[in-house]
Amino acid sequence: MNQESSTSSQGSEEKMLGYITNVSPMKNSGSKKYFNFNVHTKSKTKRGVCFSPNKRPTMTNFQNQKVPVKIEHFRTNSSPTGTDVIIHQQTNITSTVLSEEQMFTPVSVPTDTITSLNTIKNAIPEQFVTIKAKVHSLGSVKRITTKLNQVLRKQEGILLDPTGQIKILLWEDQVDSVKDGETYIFKNIRVKDNQFKERYLNPPKNINEYSCTSTCEYEEKLPEAEVIPDTIVEATGNICGIANLSKSKICLVCGTNIIPKNNQNGNCPKCKMIVRIKSCNDDWHLKIIFVTNQKKTLRLSVFNSEFNLLLSLCNLQRSCTEDEITEALLNLDDDLQIEYDAVTN
Ligand SMILES: [Zn+2]
Repeated sequence: MNQESSTSSQGSEEKMLGYITNVSPMKNSGSKKYFNFNVHTKSKTKRGVCFSPNKRPTMTNFQNQKVPVKIEHFRTNSSPTGTDVIIHQQTNITSTVLSEEQMFTPVSVPTDTITSLNTIKNAIPEQFVTIKAKVHSLGSVKRITTKLNQVLRKQEGILLDPTGQIKILLWEDQVDSVKDGETYIFKNIRVKDNQFKERYLNPPKNINEYSCTSTCEYEEKLPEAEVIPDTIVEATGNICGIANLSKSKICLVCGTNIIPKNNQNGNCPKCKMIVRIKSCNDDWHLKIIFVTNQKKTLRLSVFNSEFNLLLSLCNLQRSCTEDEITEALLNLDDDLQIEYDAVTN
C-alpha cells in the first residue's frame, strides 16, 4: 500500500478478542479495494486494514452493535506507528462473549462526530478525527528542505477548544488555508505523533476526505494557550572556522547513507537494495564556527540541504572537493546573514 511496507516486518497470529470501531469508507489503492478500522483489545488499540471488501457490512454491524468479536487467522504488520492488523479473505470475524476476566470497555475516538481535544490522547496515530477548534498563534510560512532536497512550505499553529490545545501542522497547499483567531470544524484531520512522541494534527493530502469549514466561536471560555517560542533566530557575521567536514553517498530513493560493498556498489540498509555508488548523490556534512558582528561565537551544524546554500555562495558545484569548499568558505569577504535554530544549533 505504501513505500513503508518494505521496511516493516510481517507476521501472522491466530486469535484476537476485541471491539471494532472507526470502520472507514471503501478506499482504492491501484486496483486493490480496502478499508481501515480500529480494533480495541484489552491492552491496546490497533490500526487495521481489511482487503476483503465483502467483510465491510459485517464489521460495520459489529461496530454499531458494540459487540465483542473474535478475529481468527489474520496477519500483522509492524509499521513505525505500531503493529497493524491485516484482515484478508481467509480471516474469520465472529461475535463472541467475553469471560469476566476478558471483559473491558473500549475507549474509542470517533472519526466523524466532533471530538474534544482532550480525548485525542485516546486516538491512535494516523487516525482521522473531527474537531471544532479556534486557531491560535498561527506562525509564518517557513521553507523546510528535506533530506531528499525537496523544498516544502510549512506552517505551525495551535488549536484550542474548551478542553485543551493541540498543535496543527500545515504543509504546501494547506499553508494559509486557515486564519488566526477564526474557529473551524476540521473534518477528517489526521492524528500524528512526531519523533518525540508529541501529538499533533495534520490535514491529510487526500482532500476528498478532509474539510475545514469556518464556524461560530465557542461560547465557553477557552484555556490560555501555551505557546512554544519560536527558536529560529537571525544573525549576521562571518564563517571563521570549519570542522568535521565529511562527504558520503546517500541512497537515491530514501536518502539513507550507503554502506559501500566494493568500489562500484553499495548497500542501502533501509531499502535493502544494492545500488551503483556512481549514481548516488553526495551527502555533505560539516560544522561551521560562525562569529556574529556582536562577537558571539556559534558552532553550527550544516547538513546536506543547507550545504547547497553554501555552494552557491562560493560558486562551486556539488562535485567539488573538501579542500575547495573549505578554502572558499573561509575566504568569503562579505557579511553573511543566517537563520539558525537556537536550541539545536
Ligand atoms: Zn534507500
